[in-house]
Amino acid sequence: MRMRKKKNGPARLAAVSHLFCEKPNTPIATPAEDFGREGPLWLEVGCGKGGFACGMAKKHPDANIYAMERITDVVMLAAERAEREKDERPDNLRFILGGAAELPEFFAPLSFDRVYLNFSDPWPKKGYAKRRLTYRGFLRVYFSLLKMGGELRFKTDNIGLFDFTLEELAVVGLTPHFVTRDLHREPVVADNVMTEYERNFSEKGTPICSLWVCKERELPPEEIERKEEEKA
Ligand code: SAH
Repeated sequence: MRMRKKKNGPARLAAVSHLFCEKPNTPIATPAEDFGREGPLWLEVGCGKGGFACGMAKKHPDANIYAMERITDVVMLAAERAEREKDERPDNLRFILGGAAELPEFFAPLSFDRVYLNFSDPWPKKGYAKRRLTYRGFLRVYFSLLKMGGELRFKTDNIGLFDFTLEELAVVGLTPHFVTRDLHREPVVADNVMTEYERNFSEKGTPICSLWVCKERELPPEEIERKEEEKA
């Protein structure tokens, strides 16, 4: 996401610092304590300006939500939105400034009920596949953080990234139980919270692809996967 540098950044960030989760010395083993309340724990990776995270936090007051974003000025806008809307929801939303690869430094394995990825950067050039947030290495991170029976939910307008994601899931032995290339025509759309990118794309008539995939077992160790690849 490109944007002009924001004025008064440090002061604005300080004003919403109570909504941020700083990197802990050891990964958080009991994230519910951050919120002081029990409830399903969800994580959004690449939250942008926070429309989805704020919308979900309002729509699901029982859930506790972490929203991660690696660009400071962008996550600041997300946190400012959450602060403006704080009377419309319980205290159930926290932000993390950081990149997806750092997630294991924040959270212990088996922490989350759901991980959401929305309109992740497609990195279309072949040489950049490892930067895509659905590359197998990132999938391994999300699935280690998910509880057994937990779920990854992914939305994108980008067919190339969607096809790549299906391939990467297959590489790590995962099969989604819900796949659509036009989410807004599916009955589940009744519960859909639109993201900023989703609104822009669907206003232009671009269909939205989505998949949901559950964690039914721990993923096989990486070494076994490499041997399978070598055999193929
Ligand atoms: N989810 C939002 C924004 C989509 S743009 C929406 O749907 O409207 C993708 C966002 O992911 C950008 O804000 C980008 O900065 C962030 N991002 C990209 N790579 C990331 C990473 N490795 N870790 C965390 N955030 C990342």
